[in-house]
Amino acid sequence: MKKKNLQKGERMSKKVIDLLNGGRSRELTAISQYMEQHYELEDQDFGKLGSKLKEIAIQEMKHAEKLAERILYLKGEPTSKPDGLTKKGQKIQDMLTTNIGLETQAIKMYNDASVVCAAEKDQVSKEVFEELLKDEEEHLNIFENIKDHVDKLGPAYLATLTGK
Ligand code: FE
Ligand code: FE
Repeated sequence: MKKKNLQKGERMSKKVIDLLNGGRSRELTAISQYMEQHYELEDQDFGKLGSKLKEIAIQEMKHAEKLAERILYLKGEPTSKPDGLTKKGQKIQDMLTTNIGLETQAIKMYNDASVVCAAEKDQVSKEVFEELLKDEEEHLNIFENIKDHVDKLGPAYLATLTGK
């Protein structure tokens, strides 16, 4: 039997597609923010911290892609708009505060989204959000730990983040 051609948004609830796109916008903000920090830190010779930011930015790219794949499957249109501005020229402590904010908000968004997906009976989208949540909790943990060390140890700890 021939597969029925689905119209835009016909496959699943618009609510879920909007949530997936909301997540994608958040990921795009994080990618841009972490890449910016990666360049700035490298430029200031904090190469080790810079590499960590690059690594996390690449994980966020994979998140953005995973969300887009699900949106396309549901016949939605993946957004290319970030939901926030990229902060530039921040001090290391402020960078970390920014990132802790981004991850905390993402965790809240994705937890809320997974509840809606369950209510909309879209188990696969729910699983996408849950998968992302694990990574975001890990990112939050990394940023909090680094910030904690910087707050407590200051320049002595910062010195360990220099070089390649
Ligand atoms: Fe992410
Ligand atoms: Fe993250």
